[in-house]
Amino acid sequence: MNYFSLNHNSPISTFKNAVIRGIAPDKGLYFPEKISPLPRAFFENIDNISNVEIAYQAICQFIEPEIPEKDLRKIVEETLSFDFPVVPINDQISTLELFHGPTMAFKDVGGRFMARCLGYFNKDSNREVTVLVATSGDTGGAVAHGFLGVEGVQVVILYPSGKVSDIQEKQLTTLGQNITALEVDGVFDDCQAMVKSAFLDEEITSNKQLTSANSINVARWLPQMFYYLFTYKHLKGKVKNLVFSVPSGNYGNICAGFVAQKLGMPAKHFIASNNINDVVPRYFKTGVYEPLPSHQTISNAMDVGDPSNFVRIQELFNNDFDQLRSNLTSYSFTDDETKEALSELYYTYGYIADPHGAVGYLGAKNYLKSNPKDHVVFLETAHPTKFLDTVEGVINTNVVLPPQILEVIDKKKVATSIATYDELKSFLLK
Ligand SMILES: *Cc1c(COP(=O)(O)O)cnc(C)c1O
Repeated sequence: MNYFSLNHNSPISTFKNAVIRGIAPDKGLYFPEKISPLPRAFFENIDNISNVEIAYQAICQFIEPEIPEKDLRKIVEETLSFDFPVVPINDQISTLELFHGPTMAFKDVGGRFMARCLGYFNKDSNREVTVLVATSGDTGGAVAHGFLGVEGVQVVILYPSGKVSDIQEKQLTTLGQNITALEVDGVFDDCQAMVKSAFLDEEITSNKQLTSANSINVARWLPQMFYYLFTYKHLKGKVKNLVFSVPSGNYGNICAGFVAQKLGMPAKHFIASNNINDVVPRYFKTGVYEPLPSHQTISNAMDVGDPSNFVRIQELFNNDFDQLRSNLTSYSFTDDETKEALSELYYTYGYIADPHGAVGYLGAKNYLKSNPKDHVVFLETAHPTKFLDTVEGVINTNVVLPPQILEVIDKKKVATSIATYDELKSFLLK
């Protein structure tokens, strides 16, 4: 499959080039030239197909023949080495738990898939690739874990000192091997700015092959469609109208859901559930898309003022405002509402959610007020223990730490402190 740039000012790209470059030379996002629906029989028989086979069938058109079938099947299988349970909350709402992977965030799926694709393309090259990634918390851990031990790839993670949760920091700084953590004296935006400068610095790029690993990268974005299909398989025949509520920040996850719909998955509607960073809900109200500075919230992975994947969603709907609006509803919720939702989920339904999932639950409830016959699945995008202070503060209960967390909690943090771009540069050039 070839990819074009959504800025329409770059040459057509192979999948391999899109994965290695991340972003097109004109700074546009790569988008597949064609999306062909799967045969109707695939969806009619989906309950008899294994998850790995479903995922392979869904993604092969985007990747073959650059990665041949045998190798792609192996990549898909290794990516999906954990469960994706759909847990009922009440008759009308279920949650899709996406936190059973090694770093307990849904980003594990994209991180593992992308790492294996890059490893595949790099296996016969003697030029090492450096994945440079700025993180506000979950991305760094998922990417680092995905790339751990992948030959020919070095991962350098920049994170803001004191601004990620203790558990997230442990996940970033205790892996060793080909993973290096740089603790930046600054905020997330400083980390991001340093990464951007490095990509534009010829002294570095003439010495090192750099690549990024955020959801702009097609290899991280596309595999996220898998778990929507698994959910359809699970609920097929059990619910009438299937709707997804997706806690959204950069809109990569929900955009992958729309790709699954485009492949023919019978989902009736999507809900983008946001915290107070409400650029998209505003856009639906006013018809004007206006990026805003981001505000800090308790669902901090969604503190995004200019969602990078929204252009991909617009492309999927032919840049037609009305078509988009009939498939997508978006809401915005405050931290107080989110805490109330955490409490309601726990005290009414015995379910411990994390703040991002709680925002998704609020979206589901709002939507059901005007669509009482539908069934909404909200995505639980991280395990509650990753946001331990907030969650325990609201539900007044100690949350049991899962093995993935216990494994890192007593390990010793290893990070190099940096404060300036020059320090990053000399680190990369040494
Ligand atoms: C990254 C992240 C999100 C937002 O996902 P997008 O694809 O950027 O919309 C939501 N919840 C959690 C826990 C995340 O880590």
